[in-house]
Amino acid sequence: MKKKSGPAKRVLVTAGATIEPLDPVRFISNFSTGTLGYEIAKSCKKRNFKVNLITAPTQLPAPRGLDLTRVRTAIEMEKAVFKQIKKCDAIIMAAAVCDFKPCVKRDEKIKKRGAITLKLVKNPDILERIGERKGLVKIGFSLESNNAVRNSEKKLRKKKLDLVVINVKTKANDPFGPGEKDFMLLYKNGRLEKVKGINKKRMANIIVDKLERLLGGRQ
Ligand code: C5P
Repeated sequence: MKKKSGPAKRVLVTAGATIEPLDPVRFISNFSTGTLGYEIAKSCKKRNFKVNLITAPTQLPAPRGLDLTRVRTAIEMEKAVFKQIKKCDAIIMAAAVCDFKPCVKRDEKIKKRGAITLKLVKNPDILERIGERKGLVKIGFSLESNNAVRNSEKKLRKKKLDLVVINVKTKANDPFGPGEKDFMLLYKNGRLEKVKGINKKRMANIIVDKLERLLGGRQ
């Protein structure tokens, strides 16, 4: 007899690099292209999840058939996440949220001069603020250039994650943009899996396999 499946689960995926304005025409950001987050959202959609994609600016075409919210800054992303998370069974936080933003956003364009000093302030940590919620699977990402596993373990605990996907930035492995990359997956129970030389579409499928298993374990 065919197993009766329940209603489709809803996954919140964030992607892209937030931008933090300095003045009306300039911003600070990072090199994230949003590719992996978009591939994850598409993979979730293909597997019949209901998908909410909250995206910071990217050059990528918007995936079809999902609930898309466009944001620019970390604060806008935080607001959108908190509005949508209540109805979600999982969050995959693939966005490269800027850790810092300018202390003040000038209303007028900063005039050209010899040198300027920028004062930055920390953005809220969205994943950490979500904390622990009963029944919510939380997957985060960690980009490190040294002590990757140890630092990611700390993030996993601080942000109360079920799984953290680790990218290591070395000369041989540049996590940004297209091509084949190396990843590691670190689980709450300490288990570490290595995935080497894989493109982001295939990696996205692996991450969604893990998500399905983490959700399945709760049923
Ligand atoms: O601490 P770190 O920035 O390395 O953690 C990365 C993970 O935390 C990613 O999943 C990212 O989307 C998330 N993050 C967040 N809010 C921030 C910074 C990062 O949710 N302000």
